[in-house]
Amino acid sequence: TDQPIHTPARQPDDPDAALRPKSLGEFVGQEAARDNLEVFIQAAKGREEAMDHTLFFGPPGLGKTTLAQIIAKELGVGFRATSGPVIAKAGDLAALLTNLEPNDVLFIDEIHRLNPVVEEVLYPAMEDRALDIIIGEGPSARSVRIDLPAFTLVGATTRQGLLTTPLRDRFGIPVRLVFYTEDELTQVVTRGARLLDVTMAEEGAREIARRSRGTPRVAGRLLRRVRDFAQVKGQGEVTAAIADEALTRLEIDTLGLDAMDRRYLTMIATTYKGGPVGVETLAAGLAEPRDTVEEVIEPYLIQLGLVARTARGRCLNDGGWNHLGLAAPDKPQG
Ligand code: ADP
Repeated sequence: TDQPIHTPARQPDDPDAALRPKSLGEFVGQEAARDNLEVFIQAAKGREEAMDHTLFFGPPGLGKTTLAQIIAKELGVGFRATSGPVIAKAGDLAALLTNLEPNDVLFIDEIHRLNPVVEEVLYPAMEDRALDIIIGEGPSARSVRIDLPAFTLVGATTRQGLLTTPLRDRFGIPVRLVFYTEDELTQVVTRGARLLDVTMAEEGAREIARRSRGTPRVAGRLLRRVRDFAQVKGQGEVTAAIADEALTRLEIDTLGLDAMDRRYLTMIATTYKGGPVGVETLAAGLAEPRDTVEEVIEPYLIQLGLVARTARGRCLNDGGWNHLGLAAPDKPQG
């Protein structure tokens, strides 16, 4: 794909595996989530039971897959991974479930994209550890119940609200992941530099962190690009100046926004006079799928306070006008 380097969504050539933390102790940030998971993991281990089904929700690249792997590892059980769109038929899910060892973790990424027929099969599996299979056809068809081993389903989705209520209700442990702070991302970058054998100045790490859109996946990618730059244009060490120069060349601005973010902001500002404007309209104007606008572009811009989601549509805030270097139009009174 020719997605920009900054897009937090997973890309096929992501060198993610090398930088993935392997234990809760190595996992930076998400303190609330980590503290809770630690308790649930210890409790399940102590009882030698499967942990409760867990749902991770939050923007792409914040560590949902990583945490699912860590849970399995800390529980000392097997880990199987798949994703919603990949499970085409009920039989595919049945095959996955019947192959699990007791207490294993089954990770389903993009779980909101399960087909409804498959989702129906998942309900009794999650609730009663059972599969209801129809055997035969017509009047002689009958339903057979197959018992499953105990297992932990870990689901991941960008927004909790994308799940159907019956599916959402079957997760005992819902966990929201949030954007990382600059300090946390500085730790992520510093750790990554150590693993990749990059000489990194503290201020260099901080500059990359500040411009990583609150997202460790983006931080890892930027680290690799800045490393190349330091090697070719600098003395090998990543200083703040080298990081700034490399990131500026990649068209990542001081807030960490990329060309797509700026096109989005500029469209609201100039074409729609600051809004409100509907998300469908913006998506069409940007020639991006609505999902990408809502799940990838907007969350960080909203977090920074540049844009607001209102009932009537998206509006540019004062911070958004400032960042574009434009004056906000006078607002009508009342
Ligand atoms: P998601 O499943 O939410 O899209 P991933 O779990 O695949 O995100 O994480 C993306 C990448 O970011 C991983 O390869 C990992 O290297 C890095 N990463 C995520 N969370 C952390 C963290 N807390 N500390 C360090 N690196 C992290």
